[in-house]
This record gives sequence, C-alpha cells and structure tokens, in this order.
Amino acid sequence: MSKYFNPRLASLEAYTPGEQPRDRTYIKLNTNESPYPPSRGVRKALDRQRIDALRLYCDPNATLLKEELAKLYDKKPSEVFVSNGSDDILNFAFLAFGADGILFPDISYGFYEVFANLHGLSYEKVSLKKDFTIDVDDYCKQNKMVVIANPNAPTGLALPVKKIEKLLKANPGHVVLIDEAYVDFGGESCADLVEKYPNLLCVQTFSKSRSMAGARLGFAIGSQELIADLEKIKYSTNPYNVNALTQAAGVAAVQENGYYMRNCRRIIKSRNYTKKELEKLGFEVLPSKANFLFAKTDKVGGRELYLLLKEKGILVRHFQKERIKDFNRITIGSQKEMEAFIDAVKEILGESL
Ligand SMILES: *Cc1c(COP(=O)(O)O)cnc(C)c1O
Repeated sequence: MSKYFNPRLASLEAYTPGEQPRDRTYIKLNTNESPYPPSRGVRKALDRQRIDALRLYCDPNATLLKEELAKLYDKKPSEVFVSNGSDDILNFAFLAFGADGILFPDISYGFYEVFANLHGLSYEKVSLKKDFTIDVDDYCKQNKMVVIANPNAPTGLALPVKKIEKLLKANPGHVVLIDEAYVDFGGESCADLVEKYPNLLCVQTFSKSRSMAGARLGFAIGSQELIADLEKIKYSTNPYNVNALTQAAGVAAVQENGYYMRNCRRIIKSRNYTKKELEKLGFEVLPSKANFLFAKTDKVGGRELYLLLKEKGILVRHFQKERIKDFNRITIGSQKEMEAFIDAVKEILGESL
C-alpha cells in the first residue's frame, strides 16, 4: 500500500475472483460459466462494421438493449437498467440504497461484504439455518436494505417468490435487492413483482445462463424511480459503462433467448445426472436450482478433493470458510465434462470405474 492511499480504505479486503489459470487446459468447473458458446446472432453482431464504429462513443443509454430486455420481461425500458456486469449494479445499488445499513446472509456471494466495506456502510451478516436455508423472517422489519441471492451461492438453494414477497411487504422503507444471477436454471424470478413493490430491485446477468461472462453485461429490473437512482450513480461514474460491442452482443442474445433457455435445460439435465452420481458415491449434495452443485463427503476433505481434482486437470471451487470448508462448489459443464468429473472423483475415492 502506498502512503497516498485513502486511510479509510486501508483495511479494505478486495474480492478474490475464481482462478482463471493459463498453465494448462482445465475442465473448468470453478466459476459458473456456461459450457456453451454464445448464439450465432452474437457472432454476427460483432462484425466489421461494428468494429469500424468503435471510433465513436457508444449509446450511454443502451437504448436498443433496454428495449429488447423490456420486451422479453414485459416491462417499460425505463424499468430496466444495464451495466458492466451485475457486479457493477450491486456496487451502484449498495452506494445508492445502503445508507441505513445492509443485511445479507453469512454464506452468500462474497462481493456483498466488499461493496459494503468499500462504501463504508454498516452491515450485518445473518446466519443461514443449519441446513443452509434462508429464513426470511430474519430479514423482516429490520429497517435496513436487504440483499439476497436467489438462488443463493454457493449453496444453490432457492426461495419461492412468495417468501420474497413477504420480505418486500415487511420492508417498505428499504430496498430489497434480489440477485438472480442463477435464476434461469430452475429458480423463480421476482421480476413480475416490480410493479407492485417499488422497493424491489431484481438483478440478473448475462454471465451465467447467457454465455457472456467475458462481455460483462448485467441488468436490473425495478420501478422507474429505483432505476433513475441507479442511472444517476452511473452518470456520475462512467456513462459509457456498457461498451458498443457488448451492447450489440446483448441485443442479439436477447433476441435468441430460446437458444439460451435450451442450454439451461441441458445444464439442468447434467446437473441432475451429476447429483445422482455423486450421491451414489456417498456425497451429500444440496438440492440446487443453479448451474452448480454444492457437495461434500466424509471420504475426502473439501480442500483435499479440490487439490486432487486440480492435479487431474479439473477445477472446482473450494472456500476456506468455517461452515463450508468440507464442501466444494462444482459448476455444471457439458455432459461430457461432468462424466469426466465423475470418473475423476471415482479414481480419487478408489472406486472402480
Ligand atoms: C456471478 C455472480 C454475479 C456477478 O456476475 P457478473 O454479471 O459477471 O458481474 C453476481 N451475483 C452472483 C450471486 C453471482 O454468482
């Protein structure tokens, strides 16, 4: 740290992204990316003309993209916000709505705590129940902003929309941010509640179900007032935060939504296969509605399994964190990748193939 660094941020602990190693090719089951490529329209959208147009600034309002998203989710464009990945939206939302403090689960997306610290906001980490479920009553009438990933990460457990509605009713004076990064893999979206609850901000991303993690594109759906607040923050930091190539790719991806939803169904099928196979091998596997599984076994420790898999060229995600250190989070890749993963686990456990 230089002597010039803001002393308020001296103890800030930054987020640690999952590894993206370059030393060899891995079967990458560690950062919840899609195993499937972007759709054909995305490829076509990134043509020569688009490249030539890079000399111009992009549309700061991302008008076309908002219109397409509004159509898909049956909203007005003014109820849609787009940003440079959904992390960007979380950052803006914490800054915009977190002044009274923020509640989020103790086991959830690691970035929530980082954003709260970055902006100097008070926060409380609410313990998940013993079975890793969220009890929404813990978040009711606390007079704070609420942030919940649904489905949650890294557990994969999902809440029904009815429970989200309870949260919204109990916290009319504060924003309830529902992070739906994984909703397309079998969860229930609360996007339809936006008209009824002006305190709801529903955040999604193109990184997981839409095969565009590298393009950086996230969006939020909320009341016009909430979206206008986010726009104010965006125009106070970087009006061009979604670049021209990503905007064009995003428009094409929304227009080919069916392709991505088919991929999600394939991933759900492979998820069911992987869960069953792991259970046959004696693993405890949480019931996931996301594109990953959270699993542990008594036969080999969490970190040990992670390391042994890595030696075999398979990357999963291990969190060295008290309540979950026996677990690994396994992204669902292609069916072939999951079969290779199961074979590797069998070898490690000394089971015959
Ligand atoms: C992956 C993820 C994000 C971030 O997604 P980006 O759009 O790539 O920034 C946000 N929230 C959760 C829970 C995630 O898992």
